[in-house]
Amino acid sequence: MTNEQIWQAVLGELELAISRANFTTWFKSTAIISKQEGEFVIGVPNAFTREWLQNKYHKNISRALQNVTSERITKIEYILKGNQISRGNLIQDITEKSAPTVKGQPVVTLNIPKNSNHLPNQNKLNSRYTFESFVVGANNELAHAAAIASAKKPGQAYNPLFVYGGVGLGKTHLIQAIGNQITAEGNKNVMYVTCEEFMEDFIDFIQKGKAESATFKSKYRSCDVLLIDDVQFLSGKEKTQEEFFHTFNTLYQNNKQVVLTSDRPPKAIASLENRLKSRFEGGMIADISTPDVETRKAILEGKCQEKNVNLPNEVLNFISVNVQNNIRELEGALSTMIAHCQIHNVNPTEKIAKSVLANIITNPNKKIITPKRIINIVADFYDIPTKSIIDKNRKKEIAWPRQIAMYLMRQESKTSYPSIGRALGGRDHTTAIHAYEKVRKEAEKNDDFRQEVEIIKQKLSLPE
Ligand code: ADP
Ligand code: MG
Repeated sequence: MTNEQIWQAVLGELELAISRANFTTWFKSTAIISKQEGEFVIGVPNAFTREWLQNKYHKNISRALQNVTSERITKIEYILKGNQISRGNLIQDITEKSAPTVKGQPVVTLNIPKNSNHLPNQNKLNSRYTFESFVVGANNELAHAAAIASAKKPGQAYNPLFVYGGVGLGKTHLIQAIGNQITAEGNKNVMYVTCEEFMEDFIDFIQKGKAESATFKSKYRSCDVLLIDDVQFLSGKEKTQEEFFHTFNTLYQNNKQVVLTSDRPPKAIASLENRLKSRFEGGMIADISTPDVETRKAILEGKCQEKNVNLPNEVLNFISVNVQNNIRELEGALSTMIAHCQIHNVNPTEKIAKSVLANIITNPNKKIITPKRIINIVADFYDIPTKSIIDKNRKKEIAWPRQIAMYLMRQESKTSYPSIGRALGGRDHTTAIHAYEKVRKEAEKNDDFRQEVEIIKQKLSLPE
């Protein structure tokens, strides 16, 4: 096994264990530089990354290395790649034009930009994200149709188009497919940014002064198509919201297409100005939900084609039946499987898939969702402090999420009412019963709310 093969397999495992954003940020341009009797030296592009890998991901890395290699891992060291790296050329190194070398030896690097949706340059769309490579199923039919329409007639069909859905279900793929299609067809100025980039850009310009903030305005207001990914991050950012509101209005009035994605519907974005909510709701809202098993299989087949690999039907079936949460995980499982077979030089079989994927396959009966996890996820979703859910706070914006947390404890983890009361700061079990019934009834009669609860449930089912 070469160092490159080992590292690719390790990355395959890590990709499943941590979020895509973190994976891309911290594992970009990393590589195994040397290995000797269980001692591994990992090259990293900068000191910041080294710190993170050491402090935060060391355990994951060591576990993954252990799984991949049969040796006993005795030491893992992280070093900066190349002695020549100084503060000055750090940035350049991160962008990584050519593979850096250490002591004249080529360093194996992971080519993240090719298959990642994170941190794109402005306007830089991932060419892999096209309509052709997007598999349509019952879960994304509407969003797909609306995206096609927006790409065909920007600014005319649905404006804005708001696509929402849980993690790893294809929002970025779809919004970028719109961008790719429009770019390919004409001379329209397409701008794709994540909401976070928009925000950072805004803060950057504001700090520089008046002239620069005018540049910022014209930059975003002069495009023909504005694609903003993950707008749920606007939550609580008042100044950015205001700027965004004006950007939106200018574009809208000039019949420029705006497409937005979010992990939840506009209504459910906490601390978002009403005027923005109503703008977001003013066009077309389409959701993407989790794909059914046939769609998952079709997606897998598509990915195999992309990667130019052939997997027997039994393996495709096994993966698509068992990896259910989202498509990112599905892709991760596929990569792990392929890497395993290449490294060990074995043919892919269902038996191998079973053992290789054992730790990522969700078994709904086995999954333990603790009250603590429910509280954390609900607090995060509604953007309120975790502590406030447990405290005596009676404000509606706290009390309602608290009741939802109680409902989920009952519904998802079958916790007894008295235990629910205890988990929430010593409340009475009748309070828990009341909350459960109230939330259940609301979900029954209110479609939007039911979807909101589904999204939270999906977050609960994702690996931590
Ligand atoms: P999100 O932005 O919703 O978190 P992404 O768009 O990043 O999810 O999708 C995660 C991965 O799954 C991407 O690699 C994407 O290409 C793939 N994917 C998602 N939906 C589909 C689909 N319908 N057909 C093919 N690939 C898909
Ligand atoms: Mg995304």
